[in-house]
Amino acid sequence: MTDGIVWAFWGHEPLHHYRRMGSGAASIFKNGKWIEPWYERLHAEDTIRQAAELKINLVYTHFFKGFGLRAEKEQMERTRELVQLAHRYGIKVLGYCQLNSLHYETLLDEADDLEDWAGRNADGGIDCWGGAYYRWVPCFNSDAFKRYMRKVIAYGLRHIGLDGFHFDNSYNKPCYCDRCQHAFRRYLADRLHDPERTLGLRHVSHVRIPAFSGAVEAISDPLYGQWLHYRRQLTASVHEDLFGYVKRLSEDRAIVAHNPAFPRHYGHVNRIGYEPACSPDAVDIVFAENDGFIEMTEQGMKTQIEAYKYGQLFGYQVFNSSWLKDGQGNIRVPETSEEICLFEAEALAFGGICGSPWLMRPLKNGSRCVMDRADHTKTLADIFAYFSEHSALYTNVRRTNPVKVLYHPDNLMLAVKQGYLSLLAVVQSLVLKGTPFSYCMLDDMREVGDSDLIVLPGIDYISDAEVAAVRALSDKGHPLLVVGSFAAYNECGVEREPGSPVLEERDSIVRLPCRFDAAKYDPRKHFSAMSANIAHFDRSFAEVVGEMVSGVRISFSQPGLLCETASDAKGHYLVHVINPGNTETIDSLTVSLTFPLDGGQPPYAHCELYSFELAELKGFEWIDNRLEIDVRSLKTFCTLKLYGSSVKETAAIGAKG
Ligand SMILES: [Zn+2]
Repeated sequence: MTDGIVWAFWGHEPLHHYRRMGSGAASIFKNGKWIEPWYERLHAEDTIRQAAELKINLVYTHFFKGFGLRAEKEQMERTRELVQLAHRYGIKVLGYCQLNSLHYETLLDEADDLEDWAGRNADGGIDCWGGAYYRWVPCFNSDAFKRYMRKVIAYGLRHIGLDGFHFDNSYNKPCYCDRCQHAFRRYLADRLHDPERTLGLRHVSHVRIPAFSGAVEAISDPLYGQWLHYRRQLTASVHEDLFGYVKRLSEDRAIVAHNPAFPRHYGHVNRIGYEPACSPDAVDIVFAENDGFIEMTEQGMKTQIEAYKYGQLFGYQVFNSSWLKDGQGNIRVPETSEEICLFEAEALAFGGICGSPWLMRPLKNGSRCVMDRADHTKTLADIFAYFSEHSALYTNVRRTNPVKVLYHPDNLMLAVKQGYLSLLAVVQSLVLKGTPFSYCMLDDMREVGDSDLIVLPGIDYISDAEVAAVRALSDKGHPLLVVGSFAAYNECGVEREPGSPVLEERDSIVRLPCRFDAAKYDPRKHFSAMSANIAHFDRSFAEVVGEMVSGVRISFSQPGLLCETASDAKGHYLVHVINPGNTETIDSLTVSLTFPLDGGQPPYAHCELYSFELAELKGFEWIDNRLEIDVRSLKTFCTLKLYGSSVKETAAIGAKG
């Protein structure tokens, strides 16, 4: 359903939203003289035709902002016309559907009891979205709110003809209403067999939701820990309900996309009540809206790889909606073809998708938008055309990365800062050395190869049963790299006896102490904007990983390249290579792949190179079990495809694509 997508932003909001919001918003979309002509442009046939010519096959546009079905009826009719137009050009349309704003100034026309739908602050006041007093935040336990959203969905599918929904702000901030207080107590009563042991309380009849702290660095209060469990389950249940309803109503045809503001900072369950592992099957696409636009900065390398890795792990597609900023911190669009090429290369290599969140952004000059910049659009057109022709290299592939980093939701939830920083330190270290890796989870090791290296990043909060599962991995022969501390606490935050040997000493288990320079990490910023050197390891992290990997090893004659490996539907071995420093072309690059020694023939006879640029395959040569590939003129990106089991066949040499 989501294979081969080339997507584009096509406006989020109905016209009256800009008028109500005014011009003071931090968003790049604010009320201005250009808004109406630009808005008309979004709905024009010429614009849709241009999109189709660019190979764009999916757009998301305005549908429901929270003003109400009655107040938004007229603009929804514009959406309906746009859907009909887009369908004539083979373009699917997702409707924007706001999940965190009730505009009482209009919605009260339809719901007298709207105050009862709203979430409450700890002091009992109505919670408002983003400080906008006219946007009440709904309580995710309000059945009336959920019933209304079903009405919105049904209207979108049946009357507007949408191909799916883009649920925005689909997260759940703390709510202290009476309904939530009761629901939390009920949850505790059902979940805790022995509250005296877990909480030191004989019953939970009088507990109240703890005071929220955004600055919490590790969870020590057991009730707070239970509240986080409860909140992530609540969000997951709302996502599952929405997903089930959309799929049922559309007979599985419609697409469900969420923007839960993930990943951004540490403590995602604490801040927004969202954990992708809790509802992995309740979404097709997740927006990654953060400041991780791929870029070399003075502080280090920014990427969106973390977000794409979550998509790979949980089986959803990622719309990279990251913001690029100028020197003053203002949001800007990519200005050079190098910036565009990097953004798309990252999406192809790690996500198997491409698109543009900025193509239709207004230039604040009448109806003009970014699409009118000919050079800019030409770059996108070339890449989208390349993807349309070669999508088999990027979609429906199986990742074959020999390093697996353990993603442990409970640890990230409870170890908060240390847990997330440990994960990021590992991810950043692997990214910077071009070491291909994937995430894995203890309860699903299907994608983990027999000899894959498993990295345990700062896993401190882990149950006895999970410790046993880690031990079993070691027994099976997996090398384990334990970064930082391990298993200091159980899943309830009870400290284990210091010095107790939860993992016995073995040659295949390496421990790498990891220290953080907390001052280098600004929790308000997304990780990718910070220094790459957030952690200090006693030895070079890359060196240790290099010694421990027993699968295919990849190295480059030039440092600083990004790499991903996969296997396509026909079993061809794929190596994607990205040059983040693409303002300079690499004239000559040797890519070395060392395969495990098994005494037989070299595993592949053919090598081909694909790129949307002019990169060239000069030749390749086997030296024992090492394949040396000679690549010329690499600017941003190339894919190397290895196949054929006999070296006697004629090797295909030459540039493709
Ligand atoms: Zn509530």
